Amino acid sequence: MSDIVEAIENCIGTNAVLKGDAVRERVSVWGTNQPMEALAIVRPKNTDEVSSILRLCNEEGQPIVPQGGMTGLVKAGMPNSSEIAFSMERMNSIIDVDFETATMTVEAGVTLQEAQEAADAHDLMLPLDLGARGSATIGGNLSTNAGGNRVIRYGMTREMVLGVEAVLADGTILSSLNKVLKNNTGYDLKQLFIGGEGTLGVITKAVLRLRPKPKSENTAFVSINDFANVVKLLRRLEVSLSGTLSAFEVMWCSAYKVLTGDHSHNSRPFPIEASHFVLVEALGGDPANDKDRFENALGEALQTGLVTDALVAQSESERKSFWNIRDDIPAIRSEFRDGGVITFDVSVPISQMEEYLRLVENDLKQSWSNAYFYVFGHLGDSNLHLGVHVGPQTEHYRHDIEKIVFNRLDGRGGSISAEHGIGLIKRDFIGLSRTPEELALMRKLKVALDPKNILNPGKIFKLS
Ligand code: ZN
Repeated sequence: MSDIVEAIENCIGTNAVLKGDAVRERVSVWGTNQPMEALAIVRPKNTDEVSSILRLCNEEGQPIVPQGGMTGLVKAGMPNSSEIAFSMERMNSIIDVDFETATMTVEAGVTLQEAQEAADAHDLMLPLDLGARGSATIGGNLSTNAGGNRVIRYGMTREMVLGVEAVLADGTILSSLNKVLKNNTGYDLKQLFIGGEGTLGVITKAVLRLRPKPKSENTAFVSINDFANVVKLLRRLEVSLSGTLSAFEVMWCSAYKVLTGDHSHNSRPFPIEASHFVLVEALGGDPANDKDRFENALGEALQTGLVTDALVAQSESERKSFWNIRDDIPAIRSEFRDGGVITFDVSVPISQMEEYLRLVENDLKQSWSNAYFYVFGHLGDSNLHLGVHVGPQTEHYRHDIEKIVFNRLDGRGGSISAEHGIGLIKRDFIGLSRTPEELALMRKLKVALDPKNILNPGKIFKLS
């Protein structure tokens, strides 16, 4: 056994360290059965243990890969066989929910769903929400600055974090568990770790900003013809719903077909006739009036011909059935299981979306006449999820497909990653979304905070 693993075992106990088959039993990439490879998986149970392990690893120059719920999509949590996986799964306590301050303090390994439920039990809401809520952890959500379905109303994870405790590469504990919304005392150091993908420190705790728990939840499924009408509907609802619009999830016909197809468990609210389908949700504090306002707004959109059809959910099960369509990623996986699908989470300014999508589709069809290209996304955030399947050889053509999707972003002011992050998957393309000066400063920060390059080395960018 390697000396460093033995030293860690001496420090935190053998039960806290997994080796051999126990490592390979885990998967290294979500949604696959690719076994994890790592020297060991270490599972500290408190911040002091995190600090001790990092100090040891730093002294030995031993690389570690921080891991949350392993639901990320860019291989940021994937170790190689000479790295130590650093799992936060045993640091899973909710430390407090403070109703008066409307904050919660949690350890990094708490799942998003547990955090949501704890807030809910105190009549508050943690607005961050995404399909992987049952497995994704708060530490992972912060490290990737997760987005999700309600960004249009509440912002990305970054906007919900008031304080962070993190451990630096040399074991230094940096505790800024701030609970106030305003704190202009110099650099906002927590931002180094939020979205840092574990390359600048290991997040151990966080203080999250909570919101009042909504008293009304109105959800509708809408069909629309013409992208211009989708945008008009978004802008109109932002006004007519008086700021309560909390989700505006658009499915292009190409995605709707798959999400309600043979491999899904969803029934089709509307036939595949319209060009776009939208899930609209509003969260409010005045149930009777909110419902009227919501129905009136959609009724008017129907009357004026802006939408071709609209269904307002009349029960919780109907509401869930609408969301199940949007969230049915397994249906996509099985539809394209022969060859798989290359997925993207790009940002494109709404004014350029149609042209961008047309060009990408043309490029794809030129190379692969049978290419299946589907699109859905969080339109209000300018964030599109694209998927490309070109047959059984899809994975083989990954790089060519990536080049088409990313290169067409050039000069449009978008981003190669709206919400999933860079990890390993998009590392070679980061230069399309960041200037050389920005990348140079990122490298300077990395070297300053982690001079031995032990924290998730090689993720986001290469050091040289
Ligand atoms: Zn998304």
